[in-house]
Amino acid sequence: MAERIAGPEIERLIQLLARLPGLGPRSARRAALQLLRKREELLGPLAEAMQVAREKIVVCSICGNVDSRDPCTICRDESRNRKVLVVVETVADLWALERAKAIAGRYHVLGGTLSPLDGIGPDDLNLARLPERVADEGTEEVILAVNATVDGQTTAHYIIDLLSPLRVKITRLAHGVPVGGELDYLDEGTLAAAIRSRTEF
Ligand SMILES: [Zn+2]
Repeated sequence: MAERIAGPEIERLIQLLARLPGLGPRSARRAALQLLRKREELLGPLAEAMQVAREKIVVCSICGNVDSRDPCTICRDESRNRKVLVVVETVADLWALERAKAIAGRYHVLGGTLSPLDGIGPDDLNLARLPERVADEGTEEVILAVNATVDGQTTAHYIIDLLSPLRVKITRLAHGVPVGGELDYLDEGTLAAAIRSRTEF
């Protein structure tokens, strides 16, 4: 173990920061040092914001999003298209779609994917309420915005079966050449999927 260069309070701060995505031990040290230097402008306000987030954060009882109120801001937004329900694996995926302003529908966050190998079954995900929502909210289209992984596709097939009695239109994301992508740089799976889902000019 590396020799300690700071007291236990600062070491703890660094250890916690190092658990954040994108921050290794080195970046965590730099971040900690910056926080300690900017005690008034940064450390204080950050500590307060974290305290407030800790007290206020809730999981939306409708869609599974994380927000400071339940129902969440998106579920309360009356201007959204209620006929479109976008199923995503995680809150991070929901945020990504919102950042891209991809679609002004509503969401259903699964909280993961089915994964027999990891022992994750339907009861471990936010799946039970999905057919209810589709029926009660008058959903006309369910978009399965799940990852193009084996587990993501397993989950998609499970949902298609789950919703089949409801006769709702189910769509999935196109898999293909990314915008600005060069064919030579694509992996074989992406290239094969792009050929399979080709469209007419
Ligand atoms: Zn919600």
